[in-house]
Amino acid sequence: MAGNGAAHPKLPTRTEVVVIGGGVIGCSIAYHLARSGRSDVLLLDRRQLTSGTTWHAAGIIGQLRPSINMTNLARYTRELYDSLEAETGQATGYRRCGSISFATTAQRLEELKRNASMAKVFGLQVDVLTAKEIGERVPLLNANGILGGIYIPTDGYANAVDITHALASGARTAGARIFENVPVTAIRKGPGRVTGVTTEQGEVEADCVVICTGMWTRDLAASIGVNVPLHACEHYYALFESVEGLDSSLPVIRDYDACTYYKHDAGKLLVGAFEPNARPWGMDGIPDDFSFDEIVGDFDHFEPILHGAMARIPALEKAGLQKFFCGPESFTPDNRYHIGKSPEFDNCFVAAGMNSIGLQSAGGIGKVVCDWINAGHPPVDLWEVDVRRNLPFQRNRKYLRDRVSESLGLLYATHYPHRQFETARGVRRSPLYDHLQAAGACHGEAAGWERPNWYAPPGIPAEYEYSYGRQNWFDYSAAEHQAVRCNVGLFDLSSFAKYRLEGRDAARVLNWVCANDIDVQPGRIVYTQWLNERGGIEADLTVTRLDEHSFLIVTAAATEVRDFYWLKAHIPADAHCVLTNLTSAMGVISLMGPKSRDFLQTLTPSDLSNEAFRFGTSREIELEYALVRASRITYVGELGWELYIPTEFVVGVYEAITAAGEAHGLVHAGYHALDSLRIEKAYRHWGHDITDEDSPLEAGLGFAVKFDKPGGFIGREALLRQKTKGVPRRLVQFRLCDPLPLLHRTEPVWCEGRIAGHITSGNYGHSLGGSVGLGYVDDSLVKDLPAVQADRFEIEVAGERIPAEASLRPMYDPFGKCIRC
Ligand SMILES: Cc1cc2nc3c(=O)[nH]c(=O)nc-3n(C[C@H](O)[C@H](O)[C@H](O)COP(=O)(O)OP(=O)(O)OC[C@H]3O[C@@H](n4cnc5c(N)ncnc54)[C@H](O)[C@@H]3O)c2cc1C
Repeated sequence: MAGNGAAHPKLPTRTEVVVIGGGVIGCSIAYHLARSGRSDVLLLDRRQLTSGTTWHAAGIIGQLRPSINMTNLARYTRELYDSLEAETGQATGYRRCGSISFATTAQRLEELKRNASMAKVFGLQVDVLTAKEIGERVPLLNANGILGGIYIPTDGYANAVDITHALASGARTAGARIFENVPVTAIRKGPGRVTGVTTEQGEVEADCVVICTGMWTRDLAASIGVNVPLHACEHYYALFESVEGLDSSLPVIRDYDACTYYKHDAGKLLVGAFEPNARPWGMDGIPDDFSFDEIVGDFDHFEPILHGAMARIPALEKAGLQKFFCGPESFTPDNRYHIGKSPEFDNCFVAAGMNSIGLQSAGGIGKVVCDWINAGHPPVDLWEVDVRRNLPFQRNRKYLRDRVSESLGLLYATHYPHRQFETARGVRRSPLYDHLQAAGACHGEAAGWERPNWYAPPGIPAEYEYSYGRQNWFDYSAAEHQAVRCNVGLFDLSSFAKYRLEGRDAARVLNWVCANDIDVQPGRIVYTQWLNERGGIEADLTVTRLDEHSFLIVTAAATEVRDFYWLKAHIPADAHCVLTNLTSAMGVISLMGPKSRDFLQTLTPSDLSNEAFRFGTSREIELEYALVRASRITYVGELGWELYIPTEFVVGVYEAITAAGEAHGLVHAGYHALDSLRIEKAYRHWGHDITDEDSPLEAGLGFAVKFDKPGGFIGREALLRQKTKGVPRRLVQFRLCDPLPLLHRTEPVWCEGRIAGHITSGNYGHSLGGSVGLGYVDDSLVKDLPAVQADRFEIEVAGERIPAEASLRPMYDPFGKCIRC
């Protein structure tokens, strides 16, 4: 045992929480748990604290992340490190030196300026600098080609080993017990719960297990069926000594376009890299005796970075290369870390896959994981890093190896809107994939699915040309949008997650989980949210009653795992009710547009008239040789049907539809058009516009809440309290008055000279003629908002404030006439 005074104390046989892994993440979680009042926290490491990846860290502590909550976590980390030395008496090497990130391309400069605008929402000081100012502040730099950049005065660096020991020391002081050289050989489990761990020194029973074992996590978690997809990659830096002109006031420098960063390191200059085509490591498993090890690495792989560095900092040419360093770090398929409660077990938590920002994230991760364990739910919306976003296939090692070679470099790549992964593609394909490719589809990836985002006309390559402005597909997607608004368009929505819940208790169980009333006649479709006890929105989906005892539930591809387990967790053990994931059993073709009825009617003997087939209903119809479920519902704001088709019939149905479609001007439409159509109609997008932090009343979804239905529902009491008190904020739709700038997400919303909120999702509205975004603002600002108000709000895009119209009702078809005709 490290540092508790007693010699070789015996491993306890029971504890409240066992944290596996003594890197910076495990120590931070133990620190926060112990300080939160948990008297019985045990941390185990197979070797010594920091001996995995942590000891390698270059030590950079940056704070600006792509979203508010992620930035808040990083900012909390920085604040914690600022005070940790004084609190624990353990040196941390923390220094607040600021950071400068610069651009050498116009697109990068736009990205940095957009980030600086975004930071205003978070209250983080970020100054935009000219190239001249950067050159003056950092005379070491050759400023050739620099176009400008940003300065964050509160960024800095620290010593990762010292920080970890300080956290461990703080944890011990608060009562945690830390044992080194105690490998966990197995995690013990019972039905739906983990029960403790097995170690080389005996078994420890625990109420809660937290897996923070860095690059070892995928395999340890998989041993109990918990899915944590990550894979190690080689990660490089070099240390130069005797660098002329170097002094300790040097801010951390990020030259994103050259994939390089620089940092003062105890009198030396550390040059690190986030190169494209990283080298996955540990393909045959991680050596058992790995401890404070370095990887031999490949100097040739790193050499181009060094050449670039010498051009940027000429003093390096005469400096001495003191050390070339390579260590393993875990990367994930989407470059975001994994934290939270595993969906597979009630009391098993995960924090791993840090993508090279583990040190700068550890404080915040420790805090939110601790809060999550103590409260039983995440303290804020953490969806972007929530372990429940992972699909089971993602722990396939070939997939991971191929993907993480790209993940590392993406950290410093330009984060263009709609940027697609290039590796490990084609994983999940709809039966229509080849047909849609032939029709010109440019596929993007979501949850492993290949989905048509837009269609290239004949002779035009179906490839993205990225930028922050209008990308090459803008006009093609606009034409798809207009076809859906004026005629009829075809979408392949096969990636929808679909479940079936059946059994004689199904209606009762589901009605308790749904805020809307799903105890309706068979054949009715109900749009509903699933809420948590706090009234926050856990899921946004439709429920179709198939017959008295069975329901079809349709939700987004991205939430397939999360929503499935949410419902599963709410089925009482004694309920007669079975939940099945049918995602792979059905494809979905959707026909949308004012002419969709006329067109679809030519293909089926079933009566599609408004009288016979009302909006919000669903039934089986004959189509070609198939029986398909036609659901009259829409996410684009037009008349239309979603056709749920058994997988093996999908191609035949599609061929019949497209053969007949030529005469009707049927157009293929992709997800970019879908998103443009839905935002004009102000349909909310779960994960962006609505999350577990937002209530349906705030989000303008009160119409889908049935307070008085028999039996109530999860979250009802919280919503009633909010209803009585009044909602603090409301989701508003905005449209930029200038038709040129593009909204993406997190742009600040200004009202009367102060920041009133930010854009939660944005896209171009081709029918409304400008960028459209949704965002929450204080209720008092929109209390008397008429349908559309034009002179109050501005939205900041890359430093420029643009006047915007605002409305609480959808600006497109506010009364839903197009849908119900
Ligand atoms: C070259 C390099 C530079 C970096 N620079 C930075 C930087 O500047 N800023 C930044 O924020 N991040 C940086 N990082 C990333 C950072 O170091 C990591 O994200 C972080 O250290 C990961 O911490 P961890 O606790 O998740 O993993 P680890 O430090 O690997 O800890 C996991 C621990 O689990 C233990 N363990 C594994 N299996 C078991 C078991 N079965 N039983 C018990 N214990 C077990 C291991 O012994 C290990 O100690 C860098 C990484 C590298 C490689």
